[in-house]
Amino acid sequence: MGMTRKLYFMVIVVLFFCTPTVAAQNPSDTLVFFFVTQGKKQLEDKKYKEALESFKRVFALKSAVPDEVAYYYGYALLHLSNFSQSKAALKKYIELQGRNGLLYDKTLEALEEADCKETGYKDAFILCDICFGDSTITIGCRTCKEKGYEVCPLCKGNGVVLSASSFGNTYRTCHRCAGEKIIKCTTCKSSLKETLMCYSCSGKGRKKIRKKCIN
Ligand SMILES: [Zn+2]
Ligand SMILES: [Zn+2]
Ligand SMILES: [Zn+2]
Repeated sequence: MGMTRKLYFMVIVVLFFCTPTVAAQNPSDTLVFFFVTQGKKQLEDKKYKEALESFKRVFALKSAVPDEVAYYYGYALLHLSNFSQSKAALKKYIELQGRNGLLYDKTLEALEEADCKETGYKDAFILCDICFGDSTITIGCRTCKEKGYEVCPLCKGNGVVLSASSFGNTYRTCHRCAGEKIIKCTTCKSSLKETLMCYSCSGKGRKKIRKKCIN
C-alpha cells in the first residue's frame, strides 16, 4: 500500500466515525436511536405492526425526531394498508428533506404504491401538447400587431413636442422618434413575435395526468 493510498484510507475511516448519525449524547437521543434502529429492523423482518409501535415510541419521547422516521413510519403504514396516513407521512419526509434526501427515490416509490393501492391510479407526467416541453410559446406581437413599430409614446405621433422656455412655449422635434412619429416596437424590437410562458402547462413543459396502475 503506497503512502497516498494509506492516507486516503485513513481519511475514509476518520470520516466514517465522524458521521453525526452515530453520535447520541443525551439519554433521550439514545432512546430515539434505540427505537429507530429497532423499528428499522422490524421493517426488514416485515413486522410492520411492531415497527409502527417502535416509531410511535420515538414520537412519544418528544425529542428531536430524525427526518428519516417520517419515511419509515409511512412505509410501515403502507404495509398496514393505512394509505392516507402513509401518504401524509411520506409527503412529510419529502417536505423535510427535499429532493436531496437519501430516501427520496424510495419515498416516491412508496408514495406511488400507496396511491395505486388506494385509488388504482398514480400521477404520471406527459410532455405538454402545446409547447412540446419548451415551456414557452411564440405568438404574433400584440403591442405592434405585427407591424414592427408603434406610435411614439412621447409625441403621441405628432413628431413634435411642446417645450417650455423663458420665451414662451415652442414646438421642437421629438427627440424620442427624431420626428419620425413612430418608434421601433418596444415589445418585439421589430421581430414581430413575442414569447410567452406556455399557458397550458404554466411554463413547466409537462403535464400531470392520472394513470391507471398496472396489476
Ligand atoms: Zn406547455
Ligand atoms: Zn416622437
Ligand atoms: Zn411588436
